[in-house]
Amino acid sequence: MAATKQIVMSGIRPTGFLHLGNYFGAIRNYVKMQEQFNCYFMVADLHSLTTHPDTKELRENVERVLAENIACGLDPDKVALYCQSHVHETAELYLYLNMLAYKGELEKTATFKDKVRLNPENVNAGLLTYPVLQTADILLHRAKYVPVGKDQEQHLEMARTFAHRFNHRYCETFPEPVAYNNNEDLVKVPSLDGSGKMSKSENQMATLYLADEDDVIRKKVMKAKTDNGPTEMNSAKPDYIENIFGLMKLVCAADVIAKYESDFNNCTIRYGDLKKQLGEDMVHFIAPIREKINSILPDKKYLQQVMEQGAAKANKSAGETMQLVREAMGLKYF
Ligand code: ADP
Repeated sequence: MAATKQIVMSGIRPTGFLHLGNYFGAIRNYVKMQEQFNCYFMVADLHSLTTHPDTKELRENVERVLAENIACGLDPDKVALYCQSHVHETAELYLYLNMLAYKGELEKTATFKDKVRLNPENVNAGLLTYPVLQTADILLHRAKYVPVGKDQEQHLEMARTFAHRFNHRYCETFPEPVAYNNNEDLVKVPSLDGSGKMSKSENQMATLYLADEDDVIRKKVMKAKTDNGPTEMNSAKPDYIENIFGLMKLVCAADVIAKYESDFNNCTIRYGDLKKQLGEDMVHFIAPIREKINSILPDKKYLQQVMEQGAAKANKSAGETMQLVREAMGLKYF
């Protein structure tokens, strides 16, 4: 008998164009995992409402994220690729889990503090309970593995805490989910200006999007922060230079990286040449994905069909889990 496949769940918010961080932190693993695991990947449209309450462009953004995931190699026939708002049980589980989450621990979350700093005029309760909603998304499918970037590590720790609390208070219902990156360290793709990470909505000149045109990619890479180069042999790299080498590791050949490492150590490095090379390798990597996105995006009928197919798979799994949850909580009176 075939062994039951382990369950995987992850999501991306439709708050803008996907970028290299989303690809290397998340989608690359989705594509690898779709072969051996039972995968649920969603467009997290409800999460986007915590920071983007205006829904005028939501549909367009949801379609874009779907097209971008598919262009990166995700196969809607192999996985459940769905929209969070199509799974209504999410709201029910979110409600139950909110009773197990404490205000103090939610306020301490790093992403909450960041978002409060960026948007002090919209500190809504949904923002505070973002990790609870994320936990509901994961537990709804009783997922064990969650392919995410390093920025999500703390949220996953909270998801384990909430799952554990539920199991302890009621009865063993959920696995405690773990962040997953193919048994390697979780990835953080740094922004090109040497500060923070690439991200959909902040810092657009310092983020490489999967939809960027070749010239835009070259221009952004050439603007990456560098300096005059080291003056002492084998010195430590400043953070912003470390970041550039980190980006090279994602797309450049090993011998190219080795050459620039050695130039750095000998104090002969020419950052102009390095960035030219990195720009070309980025173009080489991104262009085929961009072209694929552009070919999928106009086919609204296909995208609609993908959404429906995904919703059916996700609803089935969510329905089964919620039966167990209601039973565990004693919420079944007839
Ligand atoms: P964003 O921060 O760009 O809005 P999301 O919050 O929608 O992205 O995250 C989607 C996925 O992409 C998550 O798994 C997250 O960990 C990953 N991710 C986002 N930015 C980066 C980054 N710069 N490096 C690595 N992974 C990232």
